[in-house]
Parts: sequence; structure tokens; C-alpha cells
Amino acid sequence: MSQHEDCIFCKIANHVIESNYVYEDDLVAAFRDMSPLAPTHVLVVPKDHYEHIADAVPAETIAAMVHAVDEVAKAEGIDHSGFRVVANAGDDAGQAVHHLHFHVLGGHRLGDDFA
Ligand code: AMP
Repeated sequence: MSQHEDCIFCKIANHVIESNYVYEDDLVAAFRDMSPLAPTHVLVVPKDHYEHIADAVPAETIAAMVHAVDEVAKAEGIDHSGFRVVANAGDDAGQAVHHLHFHVLGGHRLGDDFA
């Protein structure tokens, strides 16, 4: 698998561009959303490029992303208070960045919408 040359999340996940990281391992990176919608708003992103959750993502990568969600929730102190995980896929979901990512949102009482 590989990175896409002009994909911003490929660059951040692989430290071509640095960001505000919360967690990282061999397969994924987690960093703060630049326009946070909640006190905690972290993006969990695989280091290899996949368009979205239905892009034949290997089980190992999905497992690493779920593990990263757990690590982020603990690091942010929202593992007991609760949090939301959102994965937008495609136009009707309003996916703006076409590199698979989980939004991890928490730190206050979340509404019925996204955050
Ligand atoms: P989505 O609509 O699910 O594709 O969400 C994309 C998210 O990426 C939005 O919440 C943006 O604020 C966030 N975002 C876009 N570019 C960056 C960046 N360079 N660093 C951090 N977050 C970003």
C-alpha cells in the first residue's frame, strides 16, 4: 500500500507535514482536528491511503484504528465520560478529505448532530 502525493492526511500521518499528534503507531496516527467541534476532536488516520471506510481497508488497519480510538479516549480522559466516533464516506456524508479518518469527539455533552 502507499501514500498519495497530494493528500494532506497522507502527509500528516507520515510526518511530511507535522501536526499536533495525540497517538501514533506503525499503522495509524491520531492528531487534533484544525477546526474542533468539541473539547476533544481528534482524527484517527491510517498511514496508507484509503478513500474511505469502504475502500477495501485491511482488517489489520481497521483494528489499529479502533485501538487508536481507545488510546486517544484514555489520553484525553474521555474514556469514562463518553465519546463519539464518526466516519464520513462520500458526498452525501459531506466527506471533505478523501483519506479515511475517524473523528473522535468528546469532552462535553454531544448533541444529536455530528458534535
Ligand atoms: P470530513 O468532513 O469527515 O472529511 O472531515 C475532515 C476534517 O478534517 C474536518 O473536520 C477538518 O477540520 C479537518 N482537517 C482538514 N484539514 C486538516 C488539517 N490539515 N489538519 C487537521 N485537521 C484538518
